[in-house]
Amino acid sequence: MISSTRTCARCGQSFRAYGREYTCPPCRKPKRDPKLGIDELSRRERQVIALIKQGKTNKEIAWELKLVEGTVRGHLAIIFRKVHVRSRLELGLKAIPE
Ligand SMILES: [Zn+2]
Repeated sequence: MISSTRTCARCGQSFRAYGREYTCPPCRKPKRDPKLGIDELSRRERQVIALIKQGKTNKEIAWELKLVEGTVRGHLAIIFRKVHVRSRLELGLKAIPE
């Protein structure tokens, strides 16, 4: 199989890619913090969580982060899955350490 050096689409690190791979192996594997039992959150996702905890609506979050509302909803769907909650209310109550 032909391999080439490629830049990871997610973290920007170079890695040896086989075929159609656009992210490095660590990025393809969701990292999980064993202590918290939640998947690693990106900086953006943490910003969204902080605003949810302040009781902001999707519209307000979109405005604060200069995103469109649909993007905020997309982030939320991923956050809910990573943090294992089903609603923004549950998310607001969940303790998420730095
Ligand atoms: Zn990567």
